[in-house]
Amino acid sequence: KLRVTSDPDGSSVMLDGQRVILLCSNDYLGLARHPALEQAASSAMKQYGFGSGASRLVSGNSPLHQELEERIALFKGTEAALLFNSGYAANTGIIPAVASTGDVVLSDSLNHASIIDGCRMSKAQVHVYRHRDMDHVEDYLKNAAYARRKLIVTDGVFSMDGDIAPLPELVRLAEQYGAMLMVDDAHATGVFGRGGKGTVEHFNLEGRVHIQMGTLGKALGSFGAYVAGSRSLIDYLINSARSFIFSTALPPALCAASIAALDIVEQEPELRNRLWKVRARLAEGLTSIGIDTKGSETPIITIMTGDARGAMSVSSLLLEAGIFAPAIRPPTVPEGTSRIRTTVTALHSAADIDAVISAFSRLKQEGYLPDGPDRG
Ligand code: PMP
Repeated sequence: KLRVTSDPDGSSVMLDGQRVILLCSNDYLGLARHPALEQAASSAMKQYGFGSGASRLVSGNSPLHQELEERIALFKGTEAALLFNSGYAANTGIIPAVASTGDVVLSDSLNHASIIDGCRMSKAQVHVYRHRDMDHVEDYLKNAAYARRKLIVTDGVFSMDGDIAPLPELVRLAEQYGAMLMVDDAHATGVFGRGGKGTVEHFNLEGRVHIQMGTLGKALGSFGAYVAGSRSLIDYLINSARSFIFSTALPPALCAASIAALDIVEQEPELRNRLWKVRARLAEGLTSIGIDTKGSETPIITIMTGDARGAMSVSSLLLEAGIFAPAIRPPTVPEGTSRIRTTVTALHSAADIDAVISAFSRLKQEGYLPDGPDRG
């Protein structure tokens, strides 16, 4: 069911008349309430009004759309970039544009729903490989020699488990078998890499991933999405990605806010450091009380409950303790893997995190959570 939250401050939110610790937002750097974004958006609104009035290819293309795309290309170190109205629109626009009849797409079994839908919308033959299983990818590539084009697509950070794609191995396989590689960096943009540029920077793979998609609505605190790549890829998408062509352009004020967010990501690396410190405090605290964090390597930390009812009980007991972390159940995740998915932000205080750890510790003692691995 839909819940109404209000008055967010980056670490907490009002829910049902109560201020609760917000442990499920993707506003990783706390930029959604940053005065620089508000200021940039409101001065752009004075100049451009609110709505863009038409699609980019008609009259909706403002100087701010162009400027943001240039900034994203510079930030990502690619020749060009293109905006989409959301990450969902990006994945369902890009994949059918680059893969069609006669092509083969290889997609990780835990990829985001928007990638799954993009694959379904393409007319390509789609093979789903076991999560992060490079032998499985290679088997499919060996059998796809007949394909006109081959595309491997993966989340950079997997949104439900918080683990990272084995990008160096995927790059090697893509190069060996002549496949294109597409990475969805929705949860890595602003978070991973020394400059916050995402998983490609994290693994030093600049120039070796053909299609880098990312979102502006998570760590950048704004809204919308982008794809970064070669000039020819971007020119091609402008005239072939249907979700780009047939949809009203983002409001210019949103572009202004995204530019302000990129300034902060580039100029204030300490925000990212703070996020990783908060993440370490939570991960270490949970591990110390015997909770298995399931191989999470990111600010997304998943606590398994097994069945859906268990997840619902844990979520409502957390809420009673003043912590908002919803239960994630099938079909969002596979059967038997219901969970509490927690995310931290740079704005959580040590006291917030300690309150979360002690709530989980109580739930563990009361038998609501399965045992983690034996720490002997
Ligand atoms: N890809 C991934 C990995 C995501 O987690 C999300 C958002 N949950 C999206 C794409 C979609 O992005 P948006 O919310 O901008 O539509």
